[in-house]
Amino acid sequence: RAMATSLLRVSPPEALLRPLAVPERLLLGPGPSNVPRRIRAAGARQLLGHMHPEVLQVMDEIKAGIQYAFQTQNRLSLAVSGSGHCAMEAALFNLLEQGDTVLVAINGIWGQRAADIARRLGANVCELLKPPGKYFTLGDIEQGLLQHRPLVLFITHGESSTGVLQPLEGLGELCHRHGCLLLVDAVASLGGAPIFMDQQEIDVLYSGSQKVLNAPPGSAPISFSERARAPGSDTGPTAPSCARGCLTWGLSSLWRRRWVQGKLTTTTSTEWGQREHTALCSWRCAWAAFDAREKSPSSVMLSLGTVLGSPGAVGLKKARLPTITTVRVPEGYDWKDITAFLMDKHGMEIAGGLGPTVGKVLRIGLMGCNSTRGNVERVLGALRDALQRCPRSRL
Ligand code: PMP
Repeated sequence: RAMATSLLRVSPPEALLRPLAVPERLLLGPGPSNVPRRIRAAGARQLLGHMHPEVLQVMDEIKAGIQYAFQTQNRLSLAVSGSGHCAMEAALFNLLEQGDTVLVAINGIWGQRAADIARRLGANVCELLKPPGKYFTLGDIEQGLLQHRPLVLFITHGESSTGVLQPLEGLGELCHRHGCLLLVDAVASLGGAPIFMDQQEIDVLYSGSQKVLNAPPGSAPISFSERARAPGSDTGPTAPSCARGCLTWGLSSLWRRRWVQGKLTTTTSTEWGQREHTALCSWRCAWAAFDAREKSPSSVMLSLGTVLGSPGAVGLKKARLPTITTVRVPEGYDWKDITAFLMDKHGMEIAGGLGPTVGKVLRIGLMGCNSTRGNVERVLGALRDALQRCPRSRL
């Protein structure tokens, strides 16, 4: 032992000698959100082999939960092991080939991100622009479709950088009339705003686990319509347009092996958690469809504007994202002082702006189990406190 130790040139990290300590925090930013006990407990269960029938059964249950949450019959519905970015990449990589035209609707950072990814894979990227805080009308989209004749339209349902909810009604039908596939990012909205994938004729829809679904990051539900899969593909229901030559193995063949043939080592502990958050949250996603938004805690959040004495950043009421409220940083304050004060004195996370809203807004998320009147009261109280105790410039 002494000899072995003498060979070691790197000393053991002090910090790892202490047990892990995680503070209690209320996560009211744009994600992650707090994880309920049932989902946390699932992750601590014993592993099983990735081909054991119980694991395959759980994968089937996850798939059924995603179909319910998305309101879709699509056979190719699954959970990507990765973040929302991973699902975004999976969608773009499987729909587009080099030289294909994609129209990206950009009214915040997520459209920019999709355009960036599509450019890297060699697609011909056309941008449809709106100022942050605004959404796209059917007229805007139709103009873009006529001008660019894209194969795919990318649009963000819940723009978490600006707090805008994009209406989806009629969009799928419009795209299909123009021979275009509709790809929707619902990372920040699924479960907090209604989505009906089949009825709204969405071809590819994805979300992420750490927002309204109240799960740890690292699992992203995604679904592909029959139309989105390569026509005439002999790979059957196992592959979307990747039959045309998807560039990444991990985001195409891996699915086939894992979700269809059960042949790949899976992260079974993640699967347990996925099953539980799908179970808990698929109800909420379907329920969101019938939620009267006027009565939801997010409308209570509008009193934020009154507390802070500054207006909401999204003017039109119907364009406000129920899951993330954006308000302008109150006059004379630095947003960093406010967010740091809430963290230090109230054990609560809220966020500043992102992308086009950096330095301009505060973003407050009410997602899934965090979306309660009690939490609304807590954040309003904490903000009142912050306004009294944070430095204010009188200039
Ligand atoms: N799309 C939207 C609308 C998002 O809000 C986010 C995360 N904030 C993402 C994509 C990326 O998700 P992730 O952080 O899980 O990679």
